[in-house]
Amino acid sequence: MTLGNLRDLYQQVILEHYKKPRHKGKTKAVHRYQRGHNPSCGDTIELTLQLNDAGDGIEDVKFEGEGCAIAMASADLMADALRGKSVDEALEMVQRFQRMMKGEDEFPKEQRKLNVMQGVSQFPVRIKCANLTWHTLKAAIESPHGGQQNGFITNEKEDA
Ligand code: ZN
Repeated sequence: MTLGNLRDLYQQVILEHYKKPRHKGKTKAVHRYQRGHNPSCGDTIELTLQLNDAGDGIEDVKFEGEGCAIAMASADLMADALRGKSVDEALEMVQRFQRMMKGEDEFPKEQRKLNVMQGVSQFPVRIKCANLTWHTLKAAIESPHGGQQNGFITNEKEDA
């Protein structure tokens, strides 16, 4: 596969998830809620998480939001990959995603769709778009009493 074809493939997956998101909406039970904002592009995202009874596993993740194709597709891909994961695994995935965007790591076979975002890392301004949903997830997990009072988190200070 040539590099051009590979880039087309990335684009195809991103557009597919942008146009037909599978995880848009709100989870039935809302155990975590967090809004995130990426001022450099204007993307906003609202994540809801449904946890298991023990509170250490993710049953469902949904998102609402407005923004560019990369931010929205990244949220949809993330939601897909997180279902059935433990909270610890989810936090590990946040780290791995950031390393992957720097070209230092990759997701294993069963989560390899997340690697399409690596195509975005060639465009530094769009890295924040791809990262936004993961930053928001991290904040959601780390604020057990719900993010309603917290307002938006932003990734403005991130050195992407
Ligand atoms: Zn964006």
